Amino acid sequence: MINVTKPFLPPLAEYEAYLAGIWDRVWLTNNGPLVNELEIKLKEYLGVDHLLFLTNGTIALQIAIKVFGLKGEIITTPFSFVATTSSIVWEGCEPVFVDIDRNTLNIDPTLIEAAITEKTSAILATHVFGNPCDIEAIEQIAKKHNLKVIYDGAHAFGTTYKGRSVFEYGDICTASFHATKLYHTIEGGAVVTKDPALLKEMSFLRNFGHNGPETFATLGINGKNSEFHAAMGLCNLKYIKEILEKRKLIWDTYTSRLSHARLCSIQINKDAGFNYSYYPVIFNSEEQVFKVIKELEGHKMSARRYFYPCLSTLNYVKPHPTPVSTDIAARILCLPSYHDMQVEVIDMIARIVLRAINN
Ligand SMILES: *Cc1c(COP(=O)(O)O)cnc(C)c1O
Repeated sequence: MINVTKPFLPPLAEYEAYLAGIWDRVWLTNNGPLVNELEIKLKEYLGVDHLLFLTNGTIALQIAIKVFGLKGEIITTPFSFVATTSSIVWEGCEPVFVDIDRNTLNIDPTLIEAAITEKTSAILATHVFGNPCDIEAIEQIAKKHNLKVIYDGAHAFGTTYKGRSVFEYGDICTASFHATKLYHTIEGGAVVTKDPALLKEMSFLRNFGHNGPETFATLGINGKNSEFHAAMGLCNLKYIKEILEKRKLIWDTYTSRLSHARLCSIQINKDAGFNYSYYPVIFNSEEQVFKVIKELEGHKMSARRYFYPCLSTLNYVKPHPTPVSTDIAARILCLPSYHDMQVEVIDMIARIVLRAINN
């Protein structure tokens, strides 16, 4: 079976070497040395000042919303993974969906101002498929209306914007290091900020609100991650250059094989150094999508409907018309892309896709 993605695994011996250290120290979690080392290495790699390693990307979003004490309405994108919306609702805020740009699939900044009310407290936008949002336009609107900006950077590891890591932008940018992501720590996530006071506050939130062994600065939750997860992160970070190069090769190969079919992918932000982490294809109709899925399944392969359904149709949100997102969500598929993918497999998938849409 070929799935839409397959986690990268480092050589077992390299992971075992870290395990030996964990066994020596008998220090398994609670801000251990490997967690610290990973945070330092991630900051170095991304070129950011402040980063906290967390349990997962969803807790990262929740902590980002919590640390600002956001209330009321949060403007967000309907085209993302469900966690972008569920975190807003879980934190007692109301998501207000602003439709996406048809080419980049990111939130359309020209539609944001019309959605702002006196209850709006923030903008939470996803750099979808690792493609940076129109960061400048969003920043301008946020400044003008005094709104916080949180970016969901779950897909954006390795992406740059204007020569700097995309995690540098926004008041907080979150990451997910889930096993399905380009760079992973099995389960894991992070918050990145330029503000040291904010980082400190989030470090309390991560650890039950503790600011000392017997004192609590604030209401907190358990967002800590373990030495075992940090060890996987340290192993995988050594291979990140190869991982990114391979994703680009896969992207370019699919693009050349599918070039004569009249299909769309996404328009990459011109200011981006892109990570190519997914291979999204926008088909001409939902019917084509079903045909492609069926053909691939017949060959024991699976593509995923990233992202379906459109989040503005969830049963726990106020309905908002987002026609572009609804349309794209019905017609998009991500084709398989993973580190040890063979060119012959890409060729075969491309042939299956072409056959399915020409029938
Ligand atoms: C994966 C993902 C998340 C959630 O991350 P977890 O680490 O799985 O909790 C959030 N947002 C987006 C856009 C994602 O793709």
